[in-house]
This record gives sequence, C-alpha cells and structure tokens, in this order.
Amino acid sequence: MYTLGIDIGSTTSKCIILKDGKNIIASSIVVAGTGTSGPKKVKEEVLKNADLTEEDIKYTVVTGYGRSTYGDADIELSELSCHALGVQHVFPDVRTIIDIGGQDAKVLSLNEKGRMVNFLMNDKCAAGTGRFLDVMAGILQLDINDLEVKAAEAKNTIKISSTCTVFAESEVISQLASGVEIPDLVAGICSSVASRVASLAKRIGIKEKVCMSGGVARNGGVRNALSKELGVEIFYSPSAQLMGALGAAIAAYNKVN
Ligand code: ADP
Repeated sequence: MYTLGIDIGSTTSKCIILKDGKNIIASSIVVAGTGTSGPKKVKEEVLKNADLTEEDIKYTVVTGYGRSTYGDADIELSELSCHALGVQHVFPDVRTIIDIGGQDAKVLSLNEKGRMVNFLMNDKCAAGTGRFLDVMAGILQLDINDLEVKAAEAKNTIKISSTCTVFAESEVISQLASGVEIPDLVAGICSSVASRVASLAKRIGIKEKVCMSGGVARNGGVRNALSKELGVEIFYSPSAQLMGALGAAIAAYNKVN
C-alpha cells in the first residue's frame, strides 16, 4: 500500500511516497513553497520518480506552513507532529529535534515514547533561520549548497555581532570591504544561526539524543557550530529536509490502519 506525505513550506515543497508505512519509494524537493506552483510540481515529480499514478496512492497527508491552502490531500496535520514522526522513524532514540526551515526555527522535546511533550519556536525574526543564510549567501554571491564547504575552509571564524538580519547584512558588507577571507565570514554566519537556535534549545532543555531536521540541517557548518554551542553530538540524516514529508506519509499510513 502506498501513502503520500507532502510538506509545503515557506520556501520549498517536499514530497515522499512510502510503501507499507516503512520504505521510502520516492522523494522530491522543489525550491518553491506555498502560493507557488511548487506543491503541484513536487507531487508530479514524486509520482514520476516512483513510476506510480495518483490512483495508486491510498491516502495523502499534507503538512507545513502552506497546508491549509492545499486542496489535494485527505487530511492536514501540523509540522510539529510530522517532524516528530519522521525523525522517530529514522532515529528512534532522539529526544530533542531542532528543525530550522526557510523562515522559522523550532525545538521539539520528545518523551521516552517519542511523543512530543513541549516545543519552542522562533517565527518572529529571520536571524536563526534559513532566510538569514539565504540573504548572506546572496551578498557573498555563493550558492546555498556551497556554504558548508566554505565554512570548513575557515581559519579564523569572524564573529557576527548584530543579531538583526538587516544589521548583520551591513556588518558582512563592511567585513567584505575590509578584506576578510570569505571562508572565515561564512563560518561566522553559520555560527550566528547556531547561537540563535542554541539559545532557543537551551530554554526548552536539551535531552539527548539531539537531531537536526529541515533544510538548514544540510549545512554541516551550522551542524558543527550547533554541536559546539550545545556540547552534544548532533544526529543528522541526509534526508533531513524531508522529515516533515516522511512524517506525513507515516501519518497517512497510520490513518488507513
Ligand atoms: P521550509 O519548509 O520553511 O520551506 P526547509 O526546511 O525546506 O524550509 O528549508 C529551507 C531552507 O534550507 C532555505 O532557506 C535554505 O537556506 C536552507 N538550505 C537548503 N539547502 C541548504 C544547504 N545545502 N545549506 C544550507 N542551507 C540550506
């Protein structure tokens, strides 16, 4: 039996097809979120990747920021529930999830059964979110996927002292003008995101194991900086950005059963 999970975010649309609630048959990520053609495109892509048609899908769950405007699912479910389900499937021992997406960051605390018992969210400020990285990558004329490699080349991490994204933008421009090395600046940018999110995580209390999900988890520079800030190992799956969609596909399977 095939179920489909679709996660419509602020910046990206993600989709997973699951067989019998366990095996990922196909996945797709389209860099276009709610209010765009992203959701339609990501579903077409995932069906094509799986070599299936819409009729083969037994049940669909939609999650994410744009879930309430998506009319093509059986039910909608919160991102918090879906991220918890997705991460639980991959790392059953995880008790803290740090999810950093395109415009918000969330920290989820799970109990020993893997159920969410508490969460904190920053959705008021771009600092500490993917948006901060997108803006900085734009200034440095780097692709978002190259930040990790650049950060790893840093010899002397530059501290970004402004917490506000707009002020940090000016700070980075003036650092560039003063001739600092790009890798040192990129490492500072990654550390800035990590330190914002670490303070959110410390407020909720860190219970190991700790895992990162969401698109920003793909950046090893942020993962390493966060690991240092929190003094714990950060577990990570290469499918981190798909955790919400995976949880939605699992929820769809649970619903049918
Ligand atoms: P949303 O669900 O809010 O659309 P995602 O969880 O899909 O967000 O994450 C999108 C964010 O992930 C983007 O803002 C981008 O900054 C970040 N991102 C994606 N790939 C990478 C990467 N390789 N390195 C750093 N950040 C990345």
